[in-house]
Amino acid sequence: MSKYNLPGPKSAEYLAMSKQYEPGCTSDQAPIVWESAQGVRVKDVDGYEYLDWTSGVLVTNVGHCHPHHVKAIQQAAAKLMNCYDFPTVERVTLAKRIVELMPDNLDTCFMLTTGSEATEAAMRVAKRYQGKHEVISFYGGFHGRTWGAMSMAGNQGTKRGWGPLMPGCVYAPYPYCYRCWFKKEPETCGLFCLEFLETVLKTQSIGDVAALIIEPYQGGAGFIFPPPGYLKALQQWAEEHDILFILDEVQASFGRTGKMFAFQHEDLRPNLLCLGKGIGSGMPTAALVAESRIMNILAPGEMSSTTGGNPLSCAAAHAVLDIMQEEDLPGNAARVGAYIKQRLTSLVNEVEVLGDVRGMGLVMGMEFVKDKESKEPAPDVTREFIKRCCEAGVIVGKVGLWGNVIRVAPPLVITMEEAEESCDIVEGVLRSL
Ligand code: PMP
Repeated sequence: MSKYNLPGPKSAEYLAMSKQYEPGCTSDQAPIVWESAQGVRVKDVDGYEYLDWTSGVLVTNVGHCHPHHVKAIQQAAAKLMNCYDFPTVERVTLAKRIVELMPDNLDTCFMLTTGSEATEAAMRVAKRYQGKHEVISFYGGFHGRTWGAMSMAGNQGTKRGWGPLMPGCVYAPYPYCYRCWFKKEPETCGLFCLEFLETVLKTQSIGDVAALIIEPYQGGAGFIFPPPGYLKALQQWAEEHDILFILDEVQASFGRTGKMFAFQHEDLRPNLLCLGKGIGSGMPTAALVAESRIMNILAPGEMSSTTGGNPLSCAAAHAVLDIMQEEDLPGNAARVGAYIKQRLTSLVNEVEVLGDVRGMGLVMGMEFVKDKESKEPAPDVTREFIKRCCEAGVIVGKVGLWGNVIRVAPPLVITMEEAEESCDIVEGVLRSL
């Protein structure tokens, strides 16, 4: 079943160089060095070929090196790459185009470069607007690695040893139904974790909550999807408590969940929306989409960013939107994703260490456990699975509070044939564990 003996000789050479000259810059993943990619197919420096089930980290939604994307970037690079915060045609038309895709309360768009910048900016404008300083975030949450964003993380792995954290962080349980924090069952719990927010306020807050920030599904914590209705009810709870609702869609938008934006599944109306990753599909791009009543509290230039909204990134994002619309990538994600989910779900009963398969569109998690009864996390099995998949020709990556969840997130251009080919390989590896 194994095609390659990894790492190949050239990958081994560059991996050693990476370890020496850029320690800590890569995570615990398959031992390959990428050289090029097209669509969902990747080549490493040894010429070995793989199908990509990572999209980077849910970045290259339009597929690697999509011709329209590449051409737009090449043309923009030859024309104008940066002029700091002077408006450009690319930027203002992109802001308008993004706003036109939003619910009508979200009427402004501020272009940035990274997801962390977007969540950090959302948190800051929310505090200024509200004149309050506390922010509720969720167990397992990930919002980036800058100080404020890191402080809002609900995973020790993101913030270990980097205290003190930003004052005013209040943490609440995210609905992780496979491992409910309260040992309840989703069919009968009546969304107890939502009810528990009152206890969170009573016990942790000083009564000065400006906003809450939440991911529509938690990626870093292990591809955890809230039960239907949870986010809508949370939004209502926030409104009743005069708490701004910040939705962090940095990884969930641009077709990933089978709709252009994750908020569309429940018609959410966040007050602030963070976008990143897929918006540039490889070009460093992010955005904070917000209600103008909130953004209007900023003085001109108060939140400028040297490369935020540069014409190169904006041209790339325009091309992403063209491709999404012309090729109906959200629809493809829904169709092909349903097929992959069905293939993987059918194996849960047969593979003892495969505890759970969950997700929507082309974003799913496969959670590995020592056995189904105890649900004890199995990070070693997960590591072995990554290695064997890669050796067989499919690149997968891991996440999770215990490092035991595989992310299934191919580029959204994946065809049914490519899905079938990769599922066959993954199925073989699963049965070999
Ligand atoms: N929010 C979410 C939900 C993310 O998944 C990420 C990145 N994994 C970020 C924010 C931070 O984005 P960036 O790495 O571009 O700063």
